[in-house]
Amino acid sequence: MSAARPRRIAVIPGDGIGREVIAEAVRVLAEVDRRHELGLEFEEGLAGGAAIDAVGHPIPPKTVELCRRSDAILLGACGGPKWDRGPRELRPEQALFTLRKTFGLYANLRPAIVPPMLLGASPLRREIVEGADLLIVRELTGGLYFGAQSRTGEREHAAALDTLPYSAVEVRRVVRKACEIARRRPRRKVTSVDKANVLETSRLWREVATEVAREFSDLTVEHMLVDNCALQLVYNPKQFDVIVTENMFGDILSDEAAGVMGSLGLMPSASLGDRPPGLFEPVHGTAPDIAGKGIANPLAAILTTALLLRYGLGQEAPAAAIEAAVLQALQDGCRTADLAGGRPALGTAAMTDAVLARLH
Ligand code: NAD
Repeated sequence: MSAARPRRIAVIPGDGIGREVIAEAVRVLAEVDRRHELGLEFEEGLAGGAAIDAVGHPIPPKTVELCRRSDAILLGACGGPKWDRGPRELRPEQALFTLRKTFGLYANLRPAIVPPMLLGASPLRREIVEGADLLIVRELTGGLYFGAQSRTGEREHAAALDTLPYSAVEVRRVVRKACEIARRRPRRKVTSVDKANVLETSRLWREVATEVAREFSDLTVEHMLVDNCALQLVYNPKQFDVIVTENMFGDILSDEAAGVMGSLGLMPSASLGDRPPGLFEPVHGTAPDIAGKGIANPLAAILTTALLLRYGLGQEAPAAAIEAAVLQALQDGCRTADLAGGRPALGTAAMTDAVLARLH
């Protein structure tokens, strides 16, 4: 298969183990590109602490421009103790906020799967998690984290206010995105999560989600209250396929799903808007405790490349090939230190080699 035109990937390694795992992810992407003739071109940009050190800003305009010219952005984590004390607008995490805002990335996707050979890593009983395969779509640019805030008074007269605004447009586009994604998955089910028994924004959310569901008559679309969803993720995660929800609920539920289902070193994520570039990054941070030791687990970053190919470039076959190779490496007993439970472990590069050797 040959792509019609070159596809540029903006590679932003970030800081700490971000740099180590993104280098491995690029190695996998380059190999997939060679085999599937995707026409990928990689161009590196600076962001995070590395950019602060080099040019005094967490995301220089040159990096934003590179992303604008690109079909997808592959990002390592940003940050670390060295840059924690700077003013807020000069902290490494600003790089992430700038990219989300600049490219209108309103839908954050986090798959949660427990590979059969890692069932023991879940805190839940095997029969509860075995076979669970869900994807959380979190609204990323609206709601409580972006509403007006205020603070009045002092000491016992102190009061604070956060607001939770949502428009129908914001709800519609993210629910639609979740439905489009569910259409590509075998179970074709969407659970829209809200708190419609209490919150007015949730009542709007449910109305709009119900309207959108009519456009997708081939899907099963159900509604669930967020408190029940939190419970059901622990009781019966297998019932879920795609979960779509607002920003704060999604923040909490996606961490719950991560805790229930798997290891941080295995979790990829994607942030999408209406057009490219999407932003693709492993969920984990820069892990200063293990940075520079060559022992970081590269699998979350490698699985991130599968999301980049699937949702960023519309390339399902190579995406599935990468996921299959990762599963096979785990099946064959390959483990980095975070998953090895004290047994001998592979380093970052050797784990990537193990995946590459199983890529078909
Ligand atoms: P973290 O995810 O970096 O680390 C948490 C724990 O998990 C550590 O013990 C770490 O060693 C381990 N770990 C994480 N990823 C691993 C991997 N791939 N392989 C093996 N072990 C892994 O979270 P943290 O310690 O809270 O944050 C460290 C820094 O990362 C902070 O500066 C934080 O701001 C930043 N951070 C950035 C992002 C981002 O840029 N998206 C996300 C989270 C944290």
